[in-house]
Amino acid sequence: MIYKKNKLILDGFDVVYLGKKYKTPLYCYSLKKIKDNIQKLKTNFKKINPLICYAVKANANLSILKEIKNNNLGADVVSIGELIRAIKAGIKPKKIVFSGVGKTSAEIEYAITKNILLINAESKSEILEIERIAKLKNKIVNIGIRLNPNTDAKTLSQISTGKKENKFGIDQKVFLQLVNYSKRSKYLNLKCLSVHIGSQILSHKPYQDMLRVVEKVVKRSDHKFEYVDLGGGMGINYDNNNNKLDLKKYSKKIEEFLKKNDCKIIFEPGRSIVGNSAILITKIIYIKEGTKKDFIILDAAMNDLIRPALYGAYHRIIPTKKTKKITNKIYEFVGPICESTDTFTTVKKYQKLNEKDFLVICDVGAYGTSLASNYNLRPKPIEILIKGSKIQIIKKRQKISELM
Ligand SMILES: *Cc1c(COP(=O)(O)O)cnc(C)c1O
Repeated sequence: MIYKKNKLILDGFDVVYLGKKYKTPLYCYSLKKIKDNIQKLKTNFKKINPLICYAVKANANLSILKEIKNNNLGADVVSIGELIRAIKAGIKPKKIVFSGVGKTSAEIEYAITKNILLINAESKSEILEIERIAKLKNKIVNIGIRLNPNTDAKTLSQISTGKKENKFGIDQKVFLQLVNYSKRSKYLNLKCLSVHIGSQILSHKPYQDMLRVVEKVVKRSDHKFEYVDLGGGMGINYDNNNNKLDLKKYSKKIEEFLKKNDCKIIFEPGRSIVGNSAILITKIIYIKEGTKKDFIILDAAMNDLIRPALYGAYHRIIPTKKTKKITNKIYEFVGPICESTDTFTTVKKYQKLNEKDFLVICDVGAYGTSLASNYNLRPKPIEILIKGSKIQIIKKRQKISELM
């Protein structure tokens, strides 16, 4: 995104033109960005040659999934719905891993029928359930077991998953017991150790800690794991300050691990592939002057983008037309929903805004539309994808009539 003659341009398109043509709130994706992000991962992890399984929950739009499939990625799914959609997008079951703490019998059965690469189990009960269904079907099922490495990801507490107080994974001691159990089972083929310590991780240090634990546990397991699935969580730069995860350093640590452990690495990145690929274009409905600050009331709300309300996450909000008039007022950007948490961010010394202006909420490609809801009976927003010089509508705006 760049300003040309003070107008905000995304991949050659004037953002205000897009807002007027498709109406707001409007999610607009750049295919170029998605491809660049995938290429960056492939380049930085070239020496590891990982199987990259895109975490569908970050953005499950079918057209986006198809593009990701066209770049030869697999998928990491967490429900039967995501599994069906990943297959519908053309992703081969042999490149799909299934994560999550609460897979139902129906979900396990479906995954077994489809012969996916791995079901990554997260409890003893789940392993017993997979074995029960495998036996019924007289099949040998490939599984992974998710380790809880008790590693602090040093990210927002709400998106941390690798500490012992989190519901995810299995602690070392039980993990080792379950490895022994699975090895003896006639119906389970234990192929993978998996971990995922959290999301939006910006330092390679937590990954380094995680790898140390993984290495120790692999050794203690005395089992040849064909795969080690390191999960996702690679952070992106939401505040534009160049605070970035050093993928090269992370890669080095994995290369050291691989020298001692012969296995194939799997990654499950979500955010790092789609996070910075989209903007949410919104229009100012009203400006409500207050005593301490002015409320900039947008037509986008927490039902369109819940990350700020849910985790206190930050998204930059930038003007579509740059001016030099700076206000002394404090601006708080809010949505129209009847919740005090329906607020995006508060800024000082912003350029002076007017009602009907278009604004852009940045980096909304991950956990944006996939978490959108119909709260306040608001229709879900339209989504468009810029593909070179073309624009494709990849999700129509919901109609009010569809909600009735
Ligand atoms: C959410 C999740 C991911 C993706 O996380 P990102 O931070 O989007 O990369 C990967 N693996 C598992 C098991 C997850 O739950």
